[in-house]
Amino acid sequence: MTTELITDLTIRDICKGFVYNELEGKGLFGWEGKLTIQPEYQRNYIYADGKKDVAVIESILKGYPIGILYFNRTLDGRYEVLDGQQRITSFGRFYTNKFAIKVNGIENYFGGLDEVVQEKFLNTKLLIYICEGEEPEIKEWFKTINIAGVKLEEQEMLNAVHSGPFVTLAKAMFSNTQNPMMQKWSTYLSGKPNRQDYLHTALAWVAKDEKKIDAYMSAHRRDTNINELVLYFNDVIAWIDSVFPDIYEEMKGQPWGELYERFHTQPYNPTEIGAKLKELKEDPYINNFRGSFEYVLGNCEDKRLLDVRIFDKATKEKVYNKQTAQAKEQHISNCPLCALGHDANRTRIWKLAEMDADHVTAWSKGGATDISNCQMLCQTHNRAKGNK
Ligand SMILES: [Zn+2]
Repeated sequence: MTTELITDLTIRDICKGFVYNELEGKGLFGWEGKLTIQPEYQRNYIYADGKKDVAVIESILKGYPIGILYFNRTLDGRYEVLDGQQRITSFGRFYTNKFAIKVNGIENYFGGLDEVVQEKFLNTKLLIYICEGEEPEIKEWFKTINIAGVKLEEQEMLNAVHSGPFVTLAKAMFSNTQNPMMQKWSTYLSGKPNRQDYLHTALAWVAKDEKKIDAYMSAHRRDTNINELVLYFNDVIAWIDSVFPDIYEEMKGQPWGELYERFHTQPYNPTEIGAKLKELKEDPYINNFRGSFEYVLGNCEDKRLLDVRIFDKATKEKVYNKQTAQAKEQHISNCPLCALGHDANRTRIWKLAEMDADHVTAWSKGGATDISNCQMLCQTHNRAKGNK
C-alpha cells in the first residue's frame, strides 16, 4: 500500500461538481465527479444540526485547521473519502447555500458573503492523505487511524507515512515517557509526548516551519542517526535556559524555535531579563503576560505583545472635557503639544474622535493607567510620542 500527502487541493477544487442528495441526506460527489464523498457503506450526513456544520465553516473562515482528510484511490483512478465525509459535506452544502452561518449576529449564506471572504473560504488548502492498495490493507490502515475512535494526531500520521530508522530513533528520544529529560522539556513544550507532540515540536524547530516537517522527514527517512534534530533541539533548550533564569508556567508552548531563530545571536543579561519578567508578571496593567518573553527578547520595544490595559471611554471623555474647557479659556489648542507649537494647530480645538489617550508618565516607566496619568493628545502627537 502507498500513501501520499496532498497539500495543494483547495475547498474550491473539492466543491467543483458537489452533489448532495437531500432525500438520502448524503453528500455524494465532489472534485469534478472524481470524488465519491459517501460510499454506500458510510453513515449518513450527521453534521446538519446547525452546530457541527456551522463549526466547520467558522473554523475555515477563521483559518483554523479542520484536520486531515483521508482518500482512497480506487482502481479506476477515482477517489473515495475514507475519513472526512462530514467535514466535506459541510463545506459543500455551505458552498451550495444549503445553510447559513451568523456573522455579527446576521444570518449569512455563502452567496451573500463578501467576495473577499468567499475567496478566502474557497482558497483554503486541505491536508489530504491519499492511499492506494488492496482492500484488506486499506481497511487495516483505516482501522489504525481510528483506534477506539481516537484519531491519529498529525505527527502520528507522519510517523506512519515516513516510517523507517529515522522515525524509530526520533521516537525513542522524543516520545519516550521514560526519558529523564521529559520533566524538564515539559516546562517549555506543550502537548503530550506519547501523542508525538514533543517530536512534532522538535521537528518543527529543526525544519524551521511546521509546514516543512513532512519534507524534512521525507528527506531524512533512511538516516540512521538523528544528530541534526537532537543538536538543534538541545541548542534551543540550552538557549532558553541561558536567557531566562526563572521558570513561569506561561513558558509552556511558546514558539521557542521561532524565537531562537530571531534572537539567539543577540547578547542578553539574564539577571536583567529575570528582573524585567518579574516586574511584568506583577504588573496589573498587563493583560497578556504570555507575550512578555518575546517582548523582553525584543528589548522591550513592542508593547502590543503585552496587551497593556488602556484608558476607558469614561476617563477619556472626562479628561477631554477638562482639557478642552481650559484650552478654550486660554485660546490655545486642546492638544497640549499642539499648543506649544507655532503653526496653525496652535489654537486648534480637536474633536474627541481626533484625539487619543496618552500616559503622561509612560506605562513602561511605571505610569499608571488611571485618570491622574491620562492626557489627550491629537493623533499625530500621540503617535509621535508612542514611537519613543
Ligand atoms: Zn497635537
